[in-house]
Amino acid sequence: MSESIVPPEVRPKPAVPAKPPHVAAPSPTAPHGPSGLGGGVGVDRVSGLGHSGGGSTLLGYIGIDTIIEQMRKKTMKAGFDFNIMIVGHSGLGKSTLVNTLFKSQVSRWSSGWGGEHKIPKTVEIKAVSHVIEEGGVKMKLTVIDTPGFGDQINNENCWDPISKYINEQYEKFLKEEVNIARKKRIPDTRVHCCLYFISPTGHSLRQLDIEFMKHLSRVVNIIPVIAKSDTMTPDEKNEFKHRVRKELETYGIEYYPQNEFDDDMEDKNENDKIREAMPFAVVGSDKEFQVNSKRVLGRKTAWGVVEVENPNHCEFALLRDFLIRSHLQDLKEVTHNIHYETYRARRLNDNGDV
Ligand code: GDP
Ligand code: MG
Repeated sequence: MSESIVPPEVRPKPAVPAKPPHVAAPSPTAPHGPSGLGGGVGVDRVSGLGHSGGGSTLLGYIGIDTIIEQMRKKTMKAGFDFNIMIVGHSGLGKSTLVNTLFKSQVSRWSSGWGGEHKIPKTVEIKAVSHVIEEGGVKMKLTVIDTPGFGDQINNENCWDPISKYINEQYEKFLKEEVNIARKKRIPDTRVHCCLYFISPTGHSLRQLDIEFMKHLSRVVNIIPVIAKSDTMTPDEKNEFKHRVRKELETYGIEYYPQNEFDDDMEDKNENDKIREAMPFAVVGSDKEFQVNSKRVLGRKTAWGVVEVENPNHCEFALLRDFLIRSHLQDLKEVTHNIHYETYRARRLNDNGDV
């Protein structure tokens, strides 16, 4: 089927030049096309826009590239949902880290509660939503906290409520989808990403870490991170990261970005680099310090201030860039196309009443 579509690179050259002889050569600084999108496509043709003479318009600019601008406008108007879950035992800095990531108090159960922080008897699931706006784009961020996880003496099956919550969101979406009069835009409460916090012990993963990630990596995008990495020396940190990576491999735990979902070679090369650097060893903080006449977020340690956003100090910036600036859309797509699709197919196969 696809053979009949000629990819743009091999599109046959026009027999006559696209630019009629009386049109001046475009100035290198002139905007390209009505949208000002520029880009590498058809600069010559775009510059021929607006001229009314001759048959050369047939070979002129069509405007396919404005789709990007159209999509941008729609996304700006609609905004988008992003749902992030945080898992790991209490005191690992989960709330602090998400607040640092989104530069606001998106998680209510943060530090400051100190010793009064009550540990629930079982795992609770608490979702809090916020609308964050930047550059005219609105993101409805939902942080799903799981206080109580891993805090009991017997943690057997303590991932059950978490897995139940994740599946319930798939079920909700499925019910909306199969509705005859379905909504134009189904509210998306599905968990796009689960940040799993590993304790900075310097030894190895705990049995609970392994069990949780093994059970949940099939239903949700898991991103393991090493918490409070300022409590380890650089050598300890590197060695621990190496060990954790090996263990994850040994136990066959597929964390995000999963090898099998790389789209192409370019994707694979980019993701390989990320996978080799994981799990990111992070530091979170809501305190600012003065460093070289600049205010920076950091934590004071015996060796000085550990700067949260300094890549030489910790991998917070790497995690943020990966999670928000390069892979946010992909996290949503993998959730929809792989995890949700698997759930949906199983549900419909089971012939269950939706
Ligand atoms: P949560 O229970 O996992 O949500 O942990 P919190 O975010 O409430 O943090 C628990 C305590 O650890 C607080 O006193 C935080 O100030 C502190 N904390 C948070 N992140 C870090 C970190 O990266 N390094 C260190 N050393 N302490 C942290
Ligand atoms: Mg918390």
